[in-house]
Amino acid sequence: MRKRKKTILAGSLFVSLLFFPLLSHPDSRVEIHTLRYHVHPSFTRVVVEVGKVREFNFNQLISPDRVYVDIYQAKLNPILHNQTYPVKSNYLSQIRIAQKTSTTVRVVVDLDFSNAYYRVWHLPDPFRIIIDVYPKKFSAPPPPPKLKASMIRQLGLGIQRVVIDPGHGGKDPGCIGKNKVQEKEVVLDVSLRLKKLLEALGLEVILTRETDIYLAPESRTVIANQKQADLFISIHANASRNRKISGVETFFLNFNQDPSVIETAARENATSAKNISTMGDTIKKILQNTKIPESKELAQIIQKNLVKTLSQKHRGVNDLGVKGGPFWVLIGAEVPSVLTEISFLSNATEEERLGKAEYRQLIAQGIYQGIIAYKSSLEKGAEL
Ligand SMILES: [Zn+2]
Repeated sequence: MRKRKKTILAGSLFVSLLFFPLLSHPDSRVEIHTLRYHVHPSFTRVVVEVGKVREFNFNQLISPDRVYVDIYQAKLNPILHNQTYPVKSNYLSQIRIAQKTSTTVRVVVDLDFSNAYYRVWHLPDPFRIIIDVYPKKFSAPPPPPKLKASMIRQLGLGIQRVVIDPGHGGKDPGCIGKNKVQEKEVVLDVSLRLKKLLEALGLEVILTRETDIYLAPESRTVIANQKQADLFISIHANASRNRKISGVETFFLNFNQDPSVIETAARENATSAKNISTMGDTIKKILQNTKIPESKELAQIIQKNLVKTLSQKHRGVNDLGVKGGPFWVLIGAEVPSVLTEISFLSNATEEERLGKAEYRQLIAQGIYQGIIAYKSSLEKGAEL
């Protein structure tokens, strides 16, 4: 009887921690007091100054058409409570902000999907969430002037700034091995190790996430474009229903339907707010800007160096090669961009390896060697 009582007590304590975290902990909500927006001739930009890194999520709803962004662990300064900002344009009518729950702030943009499209992305230091809305009559946001690869070679402009994208994060763990090694944790650690190596070389490195937060796949390349990076590298761990399959493979964006790629692409696209069938719309816009030949070349060099580096210390590293595939996370990148699957968490041997710091460091070194080789191939080209 006594024991039973204790259990009930513990249970109610658990429930109270679950439902009233603010009563039992100091307030961890970040206060939002600034929302800015600018109506430019070709687009409207809404910037929410969050200040500290916070998870956020966005989605679209129809009739009436709107895009909302939920920012978690956040509270509104009273000055912004239920504010509405009317915008005089034919594709966007107003912007609203409100405290949706005690810990969630919601920003809503009322627009017209037949007339407009949008993207949501973020910038670090200080953390800002940005909603850009474009009228459809402008086919694409004007890209910053970029030099063609051949001209980069001629001018000897190499790689200065690299965006590394650790896959998944937050509510999305990615794939999980039988012994509970999680993709989101492994790829973040590998990315931080790679960052260190590249910075030692004097390169500027930007990570799409440095902590365990969720980011939508399609918002990740936006950082690379806005920061005018030279490379975008998304890092993932693989999984297959066939647990015998192991090895390393690297992808670049391509819309050819290679059956062997569909399973991986479907898994990596799973958490995107967009549906793969809506890709068609986006494709035309993308293909003009995407650096497909450069991305393929980068994928080949990274794949080769990664397999080579891992094989120096480990037996039986399978080279699964370079493939094109329809990955949301690569869509919209205006710079050479690849997605590398560093080993299989569904394979017992590789899960054990991925759990170890030594193997993660080796992966970071392999990708690093690939980036150096790509960089020097550009510089060599420049001398010719
Ligand atoms: Zn993944």
